[in-house]
Amino acid sequence: MAIRKIRIMGDRILGKKCRPIEEMTPKIKELIQDMLDTMYDACGVGLAAPQVGLLKRIVVIDVGDRPWVLINPEIVETSGEQTGAEGCLSLPGKSGTVTRPNVVTVKAFDENMEPYTLTGEGLLARAICHECDHLDGIMYVEHVEGELYDNETIEEEEEE
Ligand SMILES: [Zn+2]
Repeated sequence: MAIRKIRIMGDRILGKKCRPIEEMTPKIKELIQDMLDTMYDACGVGLAAPQVGLLKRIVVIDVGDRPWVLINPEIVETSGEQTGAEGCLSLPGKSGTVTRPNVVTVKAFDENMEPYTLTGEGLLARAICHECDHLDGIMYVEHVEGELYDNETIEEEEEE
């Protein structure tokens, strides 16, 4: 168990395409555990391997119910639409408005390389899209409608 350093936007690795995982190894299992630890430590709902500096098609997500490990994820179906605030651990303190599908079905392999299909709605659908984008070197800022804003500003507004 270890917390890894999260790469910040501007780091070239965040703009690169990740390679698929061919087989599970003890090293990759350790990476997955570290990614979960790092995500929880940073209070995020998702983390992709390039965010900790590795160009591997691995994503971890937990929107509050349970952790999901998605290896070589492939979005196979989307429906509906949701528009809302989105942020990223690689761009701390900022948020932006992004429109995503409201329901997303993704095919992936779990940490034992067993294939499974996950359908997520709402925040889980948003997280799946956001994290899968990272594997292709895409940051959410490319999808933002309008300007990025500081999270502090929003918190202050809510207090009033
Ligand atoms: Zn992100």
